[in-house]
Amino acid sequence: MKVFSNIPDIRRQRWAEPLVTWGFVPTMGFLHEGHLSLVRRARQENDRVGVSIFVNPTQFNEPGDLAAYPRDTNRDLSLLKEEGVDLVWTPDPEIVYPPDYETFVEIEKVARPLEGAARPGFFRGVATVVAKLFNVFQPQRTYFGQKDAQQAVVIKRMVKDLNFNIEVVVCPTVREADGLAMSSRNANLSPPARQQATCLYRALLAAKDLFEQGERDAEELRAKMVAVIESADMARLDYVSVAHPSALEELTVIEDRALLSLAVFFDTVRLIDNMVVES
Ligand code: AMP
Repeated sequence: MKVFSNIPDIRRQRWAEPLVTWGFVPTMGFLHEGHLSLVRRARQENDRVGVSIFVNPTQFNEPGDLAAYPRDTNRDLSLLKEEGVDLVWTPDPEIVYPPDYETFVEIEKVARPLEGAARPGFFRGVATVVAKLFNVFQPQRTYFGQKDAQQAVVIKRMVKDLNFNIEVVVCPTVREADGLAMSSRNANLSPPARQQATCLYRALLAAKDLFEQGERDAEELRAKMVAVIESADMARLDYVSVAHPSALEELTVIEDRALLSLAVFFDTVRLIDNMVVES
């Protein structure tokens, strides 16, 4: 496994065998089974696998959140080596954003609600760094998690709109045994908050249950999710949503599919989760 910080080194390695196919997995590190599931899928579907580990400063709107983001590059590299990854980019921030940097990518409608509304500038930062990563690796395929449902929609939109010649593969959310969606941020939960953090998954399941009993009033599903979150005394609700799975507009009545999603704070740790329901 080759690990580089500089872009010319990544490019040289990527193009050393021009005819092989590359699968690429962008990450912010502090890897868990969710990330590794993307790496394994990329391994299955491509000759070579590239991974980036970069905590992207332009997608953080709270300096405290950026500083608190967990990191352990040595551990990450040994996990990636075990998975048979070929190439890892661990750039210093100045390589990605030199002092004279001034180009950003903005996606419009699908980036506005949900995470876009809760975290101003978030998708501008995500889209910008992902576009740069795509240009550095030039993979045939790239792998994203359904865990970040809106991110997957936004990246697909960007790939289509900017004609990136890359297939975007979205992989299922990997969960802990008790249902909590795996996330690097889970490491920052206090033990009691970690216990209560299952409320996100329980809220989604409760809403899904209502849907499966025939409820099609989106507001009823939202109210159910709110009630479950409110039953966890350490949880502070940011938003709940029942939206169209690709347009991401809030629904009044669910036709055949909906994306249930929510964001919840435990102290300063913000968790998100989602589930698609379908008749
Ligand atoms: P991050 O390091 O949080 O930026 O995540 C890197 C990639 O891993 C993104 O495409 C995420 O959606 C994906 N990912 C994160 N957590 C999970 C999970 N629990 N299951 C599946 N994919 C995940």
